[in-house]
Amino acid sequence: MPQMAPLQLSHDEMQDLGAQALDLVIHHFETNRENPVAVTLPRAQTERMLRTPLPEQATPVRELVDILARDVFPNALKSDHPRFYAFVPSPTNFVSVIGDLLISGHNLFAGHWMAASAAGQIEINVIDWLNELVGFPKAGGGILVSGGSMANLSAIAAARESRLGGPNEKAIVYCSDQTHSSMAKGLRILGFRPGQKRTIATDDGLRLSIPALEAAIAEDRAAGRLPFCVVANGGTTNTGAVDPLGPLADLCAREKLWLHVDGAYGAAAVITERGRAALAGMERADSITLDPHKWLFQPYELGCLLVRDASVLQKAFRVEDEDHADYLEDVTRHVQHDVNFYECGVQLTRSFKALKLWLSMRAFGLGEFRRAIEIGFEMADHAERTLRAAGTWEVVTPSQMGVVTFRWRDATKTDAQIDAITRGTVDLMREDGYALVMSTALNGRAVLRLCPINPSTNRAEIEETIARLGRFSKIVSARG
Ligand SMILES: *Cc1c(COP(=O)(O)O)cnc(C)c1O
Repeated sequence: MPQMAPLQLSHDEMQDLGAQALDLVIHHFETNRENPVAVTLPRAQTERMLRTPLPEQATPVRELVDILARDVFPNALKSDHPRFYAFVPSPTNFVSVIGDLLISGHNLFAGHWMAASAAGQIEINVIDWLNELVGFPKAGGGILVSGGSMANLSAIAAARESRLGGPNEKAIVYCSDQTHSSMAKGLRILGFRPGQKRTIATDDGLRLSIPALEAAIAEDRAAGRLPFCVVANGGTTNTGAVDPLGPLADLCAREKLWLHVDGAYGAAAVITERGRAALAGMERADSITLDPHKWLFQPYELGCLLVRDASVLQKAFRVEDEDHADYLEDVTRHVQHDVNFYECGVQLTRSFKALKLWLSMRAFGLGEFRRAIEIGFEMADHAERTLRAAGTWEVVTPSQMGVVTFRWRDATKTDAQIDAITRGTVDLMREDGYALVMSTALNGRAVLRLCPINPSTNRAEIEETIARLGRFSKIVSARG
């Protein structure tokens, strides 16, 4: 028998390993609801369980998969669990999971056209679908990236190049006090100083205040600074609030500012009637962040930046002649109208990211995605109704974009005591393990927050969750 090349498995070994892994994933899909929604181990314990030396010797892969099944996968926050109501849940779908297997199994290089012409066609097609969904014109374009953080960073890089021709220490970006922290991080990486990001107050609905924004722009112009970009929220992570996108588009047109809508979480809801109404005006933005790994039910990591004018990405990310990579000479010699994704974003090597979204959107059809998002809206509505009916809660922000926030009500307690009750309730809920609910801060006060957008959750689970939250709040409250 000739020795096999290194790192190869026989046909039977591949079949066995594939079956073992697939069984594990199918079992996860079928039993997820029965498992604890959130387990976090202390570092000392994970060190004992999982630390091993640099592996000079081989271990049967079956045993390794068993370790993953026993020690790793269960000990996490399951963001795809039906009762994961914290942060932004990430319910997936099995078709996209298989999509991920096909992506890495074939390992196509989707960085430029020569390497992945047909896959590139699918990337372009998927981007065009998303552009059509958000209402961008035919000239629109975009790129699939790792997530919202990378999409937001890339958006600002494109905006700055397009409007200012590059870095400028007078350039000012406007965000609201509800803007996701990835924006601050992106701005810092791009070289913006803290003073170049203006945080604008929000109104009673936690939406960016237009008068406050107008005042800040006027003040900056008067001081000789260069306002160039407004970041609006297409659903804040905190409360689901949507900034006044239509009026912001008017203002940006008037002031000649770039309008970026961070819809990492919310923008996908535009495929439903309710989402479309909430996001009216988003189609007038210059760029939009939309994370398919949030409300389009894709496994990580899949984010997307969409731009109204596709050419701005090349302007921002194409490396010009004198810096051109000599080893890409053969790639660029033949391309004319073709798309090279490495010239539209940060990455050169990139996987065939569009495959899983393409596969699942075609396999289910858009109507199924619409139905899945609508369930999220309904579950948040149901949570709000249940909270109001219970009489012991103050609904702080109503159900919007699948998020509701609320606070324990007790006239005999101070605000600070209720903050403490809120935190204690989160801890008891986490120990209890029935559902994962977290708190956030609004106007300096702690509030509980439910984001029940997993389409597999149901009314009974929402009611039971709220009943337990009430029980735990009473317990914490009685402790004094
Ligand atoms: C989640 C989120 C982000 C960050 O996206 P990642 O995919 O986690 O990088 C940015 N903005 C908003 C509004 C989000 O909800």
